[in-house]
Amino acid sequence: MATTFSPEVGGALPSTMSDLPLSIRTIFEHAIKSHPRKQIISRDGAQVLRFTFAEFGKRVAKLANVLRTLGVQPGDRIASFAWNGHRHLELYYAVPMVGAVLHTVNIRLFPDQAAFVLDHAGDKIVFYDGSLTKQIKAAADLQPDSGRTFVQMGAAAEPFEGALDYETLMTPEPDTYEWPEIDERAAALLCYTSATTGDPKGVLFSHRSTFIHALASGLADALGISERDRVLPIVPMFHVNAWGTPFLALMAGADFIMPMERLDPAGVIEMCEQERVTLSAGVPTVWMAVRDMLQAQGKKLPALERVVIGGSAMPTSLMDDLNGLGIDAIHAWGMTEMSPIGTVSRDIAELAHDPGMQKRERYKQGRFSPIVQWRVVDEHGKDVPADGVSRGDLLVRCFAVAKSYYKNELANRSAFEPDGFFHTGDVVTVDEYGYMEIVDRVKDFIKSGGEWISSVEVENILMGHPCVKEACVFGIPHPKWQERPVAAVVLRDGQEADEDAIRGWLGDKLAKWQTPDRVVFLDAIPRTGVGKFLKRDLRERYKGMFAEGDA
Ligand code: AMP
Repeated sequence: MATTFSPEVGGALPSTMSDLPLSIRTIFEHAIKSHPRKQIISRDGAQVLRFTFAEFGKRVAKLANVLRTLGVQPGDRIASFAWNGHRHLELYYAVPMVGAVLHTVNIRLFPDQAAFVLDHAGDKIVFYDGSLTKQIKAAADLQPDSGRTFVQMGAAAEPFEGALDYETLMTPEPDTYEWPEIDERAAALLCYTSATTGDPKGVLFSHRSTFIHALASGLADALGISERDRVLPIVPMFHVNAWGTPFLALMAGADFIMPMERLDPAGVIEMCEQERVTLSAGVPTVWMAVRDMLQAQGKKLPALERVVIGGSAMPTSLMDDLNGLGIDAIHAWGMTEMSPIGTVSRDIAELAHDPGMQKRERYKQGRFSPIVQWRVVDEHGKDVPADGVSRGDLLVRCFAVAKSYYKNELANRSAFEPDGFFHTGDVVTVDEYGYMEIVDRVKDFIKSGGEWISSVEVENILMGHPCVKEACVFGIPHPKWQERPVAAVVLRDGQEADEDAIRGWLGDKLAKWQTPDRVVFLDAIPRTGVGKFLKRDLRERYKGMFAEGDA
């Protein structure tokens, strides 16, 4: 028989493998069929609710029927404005599986910013947690003619006229649904970047990218989530899909535990203890507060094996302290545009003989995910050597990396190369073992007298000071040196240190020109909605600090 070559596969021999689309539905059907008794656990007010995956599946089908009753069509954008809770997870599955797009709105945005993203996305319905009524109403009031439907989840903090109630809508609906087959390239989720500058930029994740990202982040050298895990995402479900954990956990058959608004250290510790959480994930600030409380109470969390920390650089002191509490602190780096996981820091066989070196490597942001193609280039676009010293701009592309922003031609032009590589805006080194280290955001570098100072490096050292709870370093214009670093410091409760003490302590760890000229003491460092330092605000606040004459 003659071999048939087909134009459909570029003139090559077509395989005999299935072309079924990679989809969120595949994850869902696997979870409820293969792991029916595994659990979704969620705080709901004062109670903790438990659903088996099988029960969850029925609620997701009911929700899909609700969406149909509300007139949702394929491609419609449906917003969530919610904490990490079981109803939010139901939206995560039902909305994409009916062919619509779930837009997870950051609940910490100011009303005008929330109104901006709702409008830019063209959201038709907004599902919001009752405890967030005030915030969503403030955004809705800015757009009285939007024609949007609002659906409230859980008890309301205050009335919202015209809003529908989630559970009332769910009750009469059947618990089965004929799921449509959806093209794997179709949009499933929408998330706007936290944007420390300019308007937020939208990234539309596809079914395919979501599936592939979940698969890759489940690998043993990435998050390595297994069926035996009990996973607690502290990272919000509006921050890049809680780093993919809602999909990965169900794919793996791991129990999935959601804290709602209890993100305070006592709430996190209580949930970890009561639910015997084995793996958690979140930004450094949360873990610093948890660490402080555990240390103060002389307590450990024996079930908690590992925490994944990213979103901003994990201070080395935090990793040491968590290790001391018996917790493996796993540093990871990523971006909204990357779904988000790009690198994860784990041990490697090559360094098994050298624990000291291995530890220093583990402090770094980690080794690249196999689904990320990367380049580190100099100012001429030439690749720099992977020697751990040469710095360059990090570019990435691949299956779960954006190729453009949603309706934003201007940003597309500067962020994406014609060959699809995306400019991360991070300056990094990569070493001979493949560990990537973030030196700084391009825009946060401080240029002093022709030398570059990494704000991240100075912050890391400062956060190792015994009195310092948090430190943020930023550049301020200077008449002689162009820019000079300033440190904003938050002291630990009950600790005292003045400017001279902090600068003196830095003296033997940094060169003089790298040491901040001034230290300002604050009660709190301004942050973006997802907990990153808002350096722009500090630069603005202190911009006149080195005015002529004063320098
Ligand atoms: P976002 O898309 O809002 O999550 O922001 C992505 C940016 O956060 C990255 O480009 C980095 O600048 C920063 N970031 C994320 N993870 C880390 C990390 N582990 N260390 C340092 N910076 C990080």
